[in-house]
Amino acid sequence: MALSDYTGRAVLTAVDLVNSQQVLTGQDTLATEAELAGLLGARGWVLDRPLAATDLERLRALRPRLRFVFGGTPVRKSVEDLNALLRDLGAQPQLTDHDGDWHWHYVRPRAPLAERVATTCVVALLTVIADSGAARLRICEGAGCGNVFVDASRPNSRRFCDTKGCGNRAHVTAYRERRRQRGPE
Ligand SMILES: [Zn+2]
Ligand SMILES: [Zn+2]
Repeated sequence: MALSDYTGRAVLTAVDLVNSQQVLTGQDTLATEAELAGLLGARGWVLDRPLAATDLERLRALRPRLRFVFGGTPVRKSVEDLNALLRDLGAQPQLTDHDGDWHWHYVRPRAPLAERVATTCVVALLTVIADSGAARLRICEGAGCGNVFVDASRPNSRRFCDTKGCGNRAHVTAYRERRRQRGPE
């Protein structure tokens, strides 16, 4: 599955936003504007103006609607919901080279950053669905994890997120289980 750099970064931004709200533990790592700036900066977003409290509120509120499309939601439901989000956000696609490279923005110029991030994330998720299928949008199978991820691997067989070591832990558990079943040596 090949994504352009721009779409790839937007997809990862969507994943980071969703995972900042840990649904199983209630832990939330997107509580302040500084945390939002950190999340966006790590995914290459250029913050050309200070983040406002409303940016934080809007992106926090967006998270459940982005999470909705992960983990086997019927594709028509996902697409309907993401399309509706684009309408709610007043999406207005246009090409810009404000940072030197031509790329899409999906909101009017000088729209609040939260709207720019939100529309870009939504379009990126729709692009994954259109190009590679909704099955790429998964929830980690790690015990007690609940993280979402996008499987960009060629075999399309990833089962675990890559941020909490869930794959390793499952591997160790399976190994111990096999040993236990074999009994004492
Ligand atoms: Zn831009
Ligand atoms: Zn995980």
